[in-house]
Amino acid sequence: MKYIGAHVSASGGVENAPLNAAGIGASAFALFTKNQRQWVANPLTVTSIDAFKAHCDEHGFKPEQILPHDSYLINLGHPEADKLEKSRAAFLDEMQRCEQLGLDRLNFHPGSHLKQVSESECLATIAASINIALDQTKGVSAVIENTAGQGTNLGFRFEHLAEIIDQVEDKERVGVCIDTCHSFAAGYDLSTAAGCEKVFAEFDQVVGFRYLMGMHLNDSKKGLGSRVDRHHSLGQGELGLEVFKYIMADARFDHLPLILETIDETIWAEEIKLLGSYQEG
Ligand SMILES: [Zn+2]
Ligand SMILES: [Zn+2]
Repeated sequence: MKYIGAHVSASGGVENAPLNAAGIGASAFALFTKNQRQWVANPLTVTSIDAFKAHCDEHGFKPEQILPHDSYLINLGHPEADKLEKSRAAFLDEMQRCEQLGLDRLNFHPGSHLKQVSESECLATIAASINIALDQTKGVSAVIENTAGQGTNLGFRFEHLAEIIDQVEDKERVGVCIDTCHSFAAGYDLSTAAGCEKVFAEFDQVVGFRYLMGMHLNDSKKGLGSRVDRHHSLGQGELGLEVFKYIMADARFDHLPLILETIDETIWAEEIKLLGSYQEG
């Protein structure tokens, strides 16, 4: 069973996200639980929380079909103490919002070293940040997304994800999300079935499929190993359709939110149908 959807708008309130997802025929969705470009947001209201849960029930969305994404401002590996504190507080708030909404996972980009500390120091700081957030919440897993490796962002090697997980105390509440565009831009060649076989075997060996809690399905505007994060619509970029056929036909990707973050939301319904067709074939 595949759960397929997109990162839908929550404008007007989080309770609109499940409605927007249902409207495009999705069986999964991602959302921001607050404005992703602002540090602080008003707390979720009881009305909004209740409506979100009711809409999820009505349209059959369970927590394993929903992958909230945190704010882009947060850097859990920030080398400066005051800025790290700010990020940790914002991340805890995001985790608590997920808790309130009855969600079981929060997707985030690991962090950036900003050329001020070593990769290993930064990865250790990220793990410590995760430990702090997990200590103060219940039932929500921290889901680390692999990155394209743009700028000083870490998480572009599977080894980075493994190094973070290794230092997380509660292994039951840490997971990963693999973004196909980010993987390709980081140098993992997912453009052929043989490439997918090899890359996902490497992922299983280095990180382990048991940690996989979601996927982002995106084509890439930029080439293999470009280290540039530019998403494209399925089949319109450098990555091509093979990886999506591969994922849809492979049971290791069952029961996970498979989320489109492609650039043209007017064709999400078609992209969801296309992915569904690969599942049958
Ligand atoms: Zn992504
Ligand atoms: Zn991206």
